Amino acid sequence: MNLNDDITTIKGIGPKTAAPFRRAGIFYVYDLLTYYPSTYKTYPEVSAVLTAEEGESAAICAPVKNIYERCAYGKTITTAALSVMGLSVNLVWFNQRYLKRSLKPGIRYVFYGRVSYKGRTPELVQPQYFTIADYQKKVGVKLPVYPKVFGLTDKLIEKAVRQVLSEVNITEYLSDDILEKYQLLGLPSAFNNIHFPENSKMLSKARERIAFDEFFMFLLSHRLSALEEEKVPNTLGKFDTSICEKIKASLPYKLTKGQDGALNDLLRDFNGKYITQRLIQGDVGSGKTIVAFCSMAVMAYNGYTSAIMAPTEVLANQHYQKLLSLTKRLGLEIPTVLLTGHVKGKARREALEQTASGVPSFVVGTHALFQEKVQFKNLALVITDEQHRFGVKQRNALIEKGRSVFSVVMSATPIPRTLSLILYQGMNISTITEKPSVRKPLKNAVIDPSLRKNAYALFVREVRAGHQGIIICPLVEPSENAEGENVEEYYEKLKNTLPSDITIGKLYGPMSSEKKDAVMSDFASGKTDILVSTTVIEVGVDVPNATVIMIEDAQKFGLAQLHQLRGRVGRGDAQAYCMFVDTSGSKTPSKRLEVLKASNDGFYIANADLKMRGPGDAFGVRQSGDIAFKIADIYNDSALLAKASECVEKLLSEDPELKSMPELKKFLTEESERSYSNL
Ligand code: ADP
Ligand code: MG
Repeated sequence: MNLNDDITTIKGIGPKTAAPFRRAGIFYVYDLLTYYPSTYKTYPEVSAVLTAEEGESAAICAPVKNIYERCAYGKTITTAALSVMGLSVNLVWFNQRYLKRSLKPGIRYVFYGRVSYKGRTPELVQPQYFTIADYQKKVGVKLPVYPKVFGLTDKLIEKAVRQVLSEVNITEYLSDDILEKYQLLGLPSAFNNIHFPENSKMLSKARERIAFDEFFMFLLSHRLSALEEEKVPNTLGKFDTSICEKIKASLPYKLTKGQDGALNDLLRDFNGKYITQRLIQGDVGSGKTIVAFCSMAVMAYNGYTSAIMAPTEVLANQHYQKLLSLTKRLGLEIPTVLLTGHVKGKARREALEQTASGVPSFVVGTHALFQEKVQFKNLALVITDEQHRFGVKQRNALIEKGRSVFSVVMSATPIPRTLSLILYQGMNISTITEKPSVRKPLKNAVIDPSLRKNAYALFVREVRAGHQGIIICPLVEPSENAEGENVEEYYEKLKNTLPSDITIGKLYGPMSSEKKDAVMSDFASGKTDILVSTTVIEVGVDVPNATVIMIEDAQKFGLAQLHQLRGRVGRGDAQAYCMFVDTSGSKTPSKRLEVLKASNDGFYIANADLKMRGPGDAFGVRQSGDIAFKIADIYNDSALLAKASECVEKLLSEDPELKSMPELKKFLTEESERSYSNL
């Protein structure tokens, strides 16, 4: 039997029994071998008295008092009665006719099964039974429990797997050196132990080996295809980067070490041999924008156009305004154009003429910019801002779009380094770890709705001190279908509650773009004291004078989103405050809100988010289906991931054609054959 054989070569799996296996995605012998148990069960010691509660499993030992069979609803029902230390226990089986003959009254057996109570009488439904000697051999042994698929039982899978394990020759494809260096279990032993663990220690070694291999194969195949991809040579010429110094000198602050580092990385890229892609990650408020602007200025200064794309109109407009004031301050003559869905008519025509003209300029737009048929001439840099739902697929699409331009992605979701290594394969990464040091850490509180009065008092105090505030509601207007505060009513309510000289604004997605811009610029200029908004304000909006934010129905939002929202305040020097209103009425505090209260550190939040939701969900990867590990867990196995990555790098640098590892090459070829025919 071979790993690439069809499962019907396994004894007992004919065309008919193969159907449920195929439903479970098992086509080849190899698929069965890698159909891992979702958990294991252990047979417990026999209990002398039955103390198990409803739903728990127990093993009891007693002689059968009587056993009889009846028919009901077209089924044969076999019942037996036991007496365990004076307690009556009933056993029930369905459609197991042979039982009446094999279970002899008066003889002691061990019965193992789930307990349910009929009144006060415990009952074991469909229990397994063993002779005492047989059971003793099983106690403490871990047995596989497989993911449930209709028509497949653990027994069926177990039998097939045992046969495969005994008949297939599993060849080790990793070298002894690698196994030794990373202390990995051999492949045959790993497969045996993942299905039928000898003990807990072997199981964890088996898990480790298989997780390592999953990471290893993933990284290796991506690396191999990256090696085949041709690098685009950088023919843009030598860049004069002196403009950066001028910009820096004009700023009211000094760049942080992380900002300087990221900028220098970019400048080095521009003067490098090849066109590159870079991810700049930094928590909200770490100051990514100025880094982007400096790099754009370098492009313009050297005769090239650059584009920056934002996820929302509000943010695009903010970038546009800031770029305008930057060029004005520095006296630079760089045409700056805005291209969003709402720039229409003459303004749009002019913007398009500008991008097609080849005159070095700044182009600002929403993410849709690249989907549209915008003609660019002389484009050399594309920056994508606030791309925190950035999946592997989008990344590839982006690279496809602009193979000959530098691309930079800025993300506020700090992804643990090991994880970004996988997600952004082949991309360069700069991380801004610190926030400008002048800032005081945000003060957080989770409050009950009854404390709103105190919260409003804080808003008034801050406004009196010359600052501004933001209140977030989940909804735009009252809705029949959704519960929660809405901006329209909240705005009215607030006007009646707060002193009349305090100016209040409102902002939400469905407003016209002119209206949104007007509201935002009133808030940015300080004309509006308090802004009531939906989450449209979430991404990137920068008003350093805002010092207090309150998020209504906070329990309804996701962790990452709440962290983004509170990042709208605390961007200046003054102390800032964030209040999460938990309207759930629940006595136990929400886990997510507790995490946010405990820390302002985006890395910590991202890790907590990963733990609670699983890495795939947190970053939109699971849906994209690009990364499907069966055993490995990107978060919990991050140390292993780092090892696998190190191993792959070393291997490819020494032996890019894998000449020294023929077994590995063979495995990769076979695997790609399997996955192609599964499509
Ligand atoms: P983000 O990384 O979230 O995009 P921004 O680029 O919007 O952050 O910067 C947040 C605020 O911090 C802005 O008001 C910006 O002017 C300010 N800022 C940026 N860098 C520094 C610095 N080195 N020192 C002080 N303030 C800074
Ligand atoms: Mg930003």
